[in-house]
Amino acid sequence: MKSLSTAPLPVLRSRVHALFHGVETALFPASCPACGFLPLPPESQWCTQCDDALPWRPLAAGPPSALLTPLRAALDFRAGPTRTLLHHLKYRNRPELAFALGQAAARRFAPPPAHARLVPVPITPDKLKRRGYNQAERFAAGLASVWHVPVDPSVLVRRVQHQSLTELDRSTRLQEAHSAFSLADGAQNRAPGQYWVLVDDTLTTGATLHACAVALTRIRPSGVEGFCVAWAP
Ligand SMILES: [Zn+2]
Repeated sequence: MKSLSTAPLPVLRSRVHALFHGVETALFPASCPACGFLPLPPESQWCTQCDDALPWRPLAAGPPSALLTPLRAALDFRAGPTRTLLHHLKYRNRPELAFALGQAAARRFAPPPAHARLVPVPITPDKLKRRGYNQAERFAAGLASVWHVPVDPSVLVRRVQHQSLTELDRSTRLQEAHSAFSLADGAQNRAPGQYWVLVDDTLTTGATLHACAVALTRIRPSGVEGFCVAWAP
C-alpha cells in the first residue's frame, strides 16, 4: 500500500476527506430525524424512542373505494413521529427513510398474494428531477425487499399539474386526479389478470389511488389494492 506522501493527488484527497468524515462522525454522531436529538442506533434511520412511538394501525382501513380492496395505511399521520418522518423523506432528501418505513411496515402487515406487483404512484418528471427520487417508489422498494414481490414503476404515468391536488376542493380534486394518471406507453399491451398493489406515501381522500386504480382497470387486473405509509383522515 502506498504511503500518503507517494499517493496520487485524487487518492490523497479522498483519504483526507475520509479521515475528516470519520472525525466529524465521531464528534457529532447523527441524530434521529424524527425527534432531532437522540442518537441513531447502528443501522437505524430513527431512534429507539421514536420507533416505540410509531403509531402502527392494526386494522386495514381508509376511505372506501370499490376498486381498491383492501386499502391499507400503515401509520396514523397525525400521531407520534409519522408527520416529521414523512416531511424528511419528501422534502429533506431522505429517500432512505421511505425505504426503512417500507421494510418496517412489511414486517407488520400481511403480504399481498405471491403473484402481486407493487406499483408506486408516479410523480411528474419535473418533480422527479427536482427531488431526485420518487418517495412512493422507495417505500415500495422497502416493502418489496421484505415481501419478496416485484416493484413495477413503468405501468402508470402522471401528467404535469399546475395546481397541487391538496389545494383543490373535493369534487375538483377527483376530476383532476382522474385526468392526471394514465397507462404508460405500451402498458395497454400488458397481459390481463395481473394483481396490482398501488403504493403511495400519504392517504387523504383516496382520490389519487382511486384514479390510479381506474387507469389499471383498462388492463383488466385480477385485483387492485392500496398500501400507503400513512393515513391522514
Ligand atoms: Zn427520535
